[in-house]
Amino acid sequence: MVVVMSPGATDEQIAHVVSRVEGVGGDAFVSKGVERAIIGLVGDIESFHHLNLRALPGVADVYRISDPYKLVSRQHHPQRSTVWVGPADQQVPIGPGTFTFIAGPCAVESAEQTLAAARMAKSAGATLLRGGAYKPRTSPYAFQGLGEEGLEILSSVRAATGLPLVTEVVDARDVDVVAEHADMLQVGTRNMANFGLLQAVGSAGKPVLLKRGMTATIEEWLMAAEYIAQRGNLHIVLCERGIRTFEPATRNTLDISAIPVVQAASHLPVIVDPSHAGGRKDLVVPLTRAAIGVGADGVIVDVHPNPEVALCDGPQALLGNDLRELAQVVRRLPAAVDRSPAVPANRA
Ligand code: PEP
Ligand code: MN
Repeated sequence: MVVVMSPGATDEQIAHVVSRVEGVGGDAFVSKGVERAIIGLVGDIESFHHLNLRALPGVADVYRISDPYKLVSRQHHPQRSTVWVGPADQQVPIGPGTFTFIAGPCAVESAEQTLAAARMAKSAGATLLRGGAYKPRTSPYAFQGLGEEGLEILSSVRAATGLPLVTEVVDARDVDVVAEHADMLQVGTRNMANFGLLQAVGSAGKPVLLKRGMTATIEEWLMAAEYIAQRGNLHIVLCERGIRTFEPATRNTLDISAIPVVQAASHLPVIVDPSHAGGRKDLVVPLTRAAIGVGADGVIVDVHPNPEVALCDGPQALLGNDLRELAQVVRRLPAAVDRSPAVPANRA
């Protein structure tokens, strides 16, 4: 932390800052320039926060040097992490060196639709299945998901296809029941800053897919991940799914630069959701190419056997030739950036 004194700050004011810092066990190094003095602080940052340094007489500004997040920061964990998802005998990696393809329906609507979507996902090369039983909808009148019945359907589809499952939890009270069925718990964009939910999923003993809040900065997103990590769960995968901007041509604006920025700041894997980012099926393949090119660790994509009648997000769901094209891209392109498609491994 660095304290910048105002140009007219007196020696007494500087000494006062130093004594406050030393009073909580820190060290303060004063450096006097022609115009003003700056004071470098070394020690426990949390204890410095309690000093309210900005409010002391003669202080112009206070700057933080180290990251406010710790457990998810790359400063203390230079090696990028791999998160493994699924039962021990068929765990799918998400992390450096591989590219993970996750696909499935936006929402679980019926057993038949979910199984058909899962088969489409599998034959396109996906090694993890997505699908929401609890849907966080903007409108209270929209389809809210099948809830527990949807979880049962997902479980049976997982058994039928062998695909480990990622599904969203929207309420802290549902974490246990979702964790019973799911291999990975998803926290959606609307809940990224629901700190009680983050703590609950952090304690659930399953890997977590944490989507970026649609209006969240990268730092806020990483602080949300820190809430999960603080509960002892570092099996966190971040997902960039587009942010709100002034541009109405796409549903959200995919923040493609967030991927390398986050990878430099945090050791956690980062994947991209091109379906929810663009909200349009014609953008899924180009945005997936971009995700692979920029170094994302995977993609999560909506597929549906009959998008015209989908209860949620039909316009962005792939099928047929579009899905075949996507399958080719995720099979071939990762090699160009020294990655191989992620396949299940026996880590038992
Ligand atoms: C989803 O993946 O089904 C979803 C609702 O995504 P998001 O939270 O990114 O809108
Ligand atoms: Mn959706």
